[in-house]
Amino acid sequence: MKVLEIRLAKSLRSAIEAGHPWIYASAIKNQPIAAAGTTARVLDKDGFICWGIYEPNHPIAVRVWSRDPNDPPSIASLQRRLDLAWALRQKVIPNQVEGYRLLHGEADGCPGWAVDRYQDVLVVRSDGEAAQARLVDLQTALSHWSALGSIRALVHRRSRGSIGPVSRVLLGQAPQPFACREYSWLMEVDPLQGQKTGWFIDQRENRRLIFEVARGLRVANLFCYSGGFSIAAALGGASQVSSVDISKPAITAAMRNFELNGLNAADYEFVAADAFDWLLACQSQARQFDLMILDPPSFAPNQRSLPNAKRAYSKLLTAAAKLLAPGGLLAASSCSSHVDPAMFREIISAAVARAGRRLQIVADRGAGPDHPELPAFLEGRYLKFVLCKID
Ligand code: SAH
Repeated sequence: MKVLEIRLAKSLRSAIEAGHPWIYASAIKNQPIAAAGTTARVLDKDGFICWGIYEPNHPIAVRVWSRDPNDPPSIASLQRRLDLAWALRQKVIPNQVEGYRLLHGEADGCPGWAVDRYQDVLVVRSDGEAAQARLVDLQTALSHWSALGSIRALVHRRSRGSIGPVSRVLLGQAPQPFACREYSWLMEVDPLQGQKTGWFIDQRENRRLIFEVARGLRVANLFCYSGGFSIAAALGGASQVSSVDISKPAITAAMRNFELNGLNAADYEFVAADAFDWLLACQSQARQFDLMILDPPSFAPNQRSLPNAKRAYSKLLTAAAKLLAPGGLLAASSCSSHVDPAMFREIISAAVARAGRRLQIVADRGAGPDHPELPAFLEGRYLKFVLCKID
């Protein structure tokens, strides 16, 4: 095994010991020339700090593997981590859920890799070139993982910003889209072409909350994609559900998913339109809703886009708040890790105040328990979901 020695310019020992899993390039003294994925032994003036995986030409130069000198990156070590990840999922994933995150990257000690499971199909996403370079290790560990039982296919999805085909089948046959159960509803999952790894499993517990609160409400779900929140609301007994997305194929998929759940799509409203335009049209028609769900794509993919993203969120939230009947509910979500939870609450309260309305926060949540978080790693808490009551 080739091992690089990496010396830190500033000691990050306490941050790493607290569990932070990243070392930025700016913290490293020597910037060694080595392939992405090379094993790194990280030292400061007092000696060994951790094992890591090196990625040249990336702001995150090292992802921490372990603080145990006897546990360098290896397939055996990876297999132990997969077992721990599985033990957690067995505790927190109920029987009626067939789609969940089996392995959540840094938080499960496997930096740069996410593995989602949809029935007997696994979908892997690697983040960065180092995780990509070591993909074969993950593939080997997964294929020897007896806890999983039989797996029909293993698919690799391209990570954000990388080039190449969207997906590649690593094992088994290319899976066609198929229906996957989540609590009392079914959703069509497309591991090869669907968004993220085929479906937004990180919103699962939030969809369940919508199912619980939607009875009798007039609901609008903006940025609905394939209709997850809309179906939860409709099955939860909403009196009407409007689903809006700019993408026609997304709207078609949402209608198909309604039918898959025994809901007559013709009884509900589906709109292929820009959400901002649709909100303005509703305002001019004096339409009112009792529950508005806003789950837009990441408006802030990087730090630079943050000011524009804040403006876009605010505009959206103000327009939505104006359409809510007194006592209505606003469910606002953001999946950008550059918008931290406190900042998101501030954006929401300022935007609602601008609509001349008052709010109470009823729930403030993230992703489900299959997306664990490390306390020292706030960057890992990317998903925010805030439910507010608006008077
Ligand atoms: N809420 C969804 C996931 C949303 S993904 C779920 O739970 O499954 C973001 C969606 O926003 C995509 O489907 C994309 O087509 C849509 N979108 C992006 N820009 C939009 C806009 N300006 N107006 C409406 N929809 C938009």
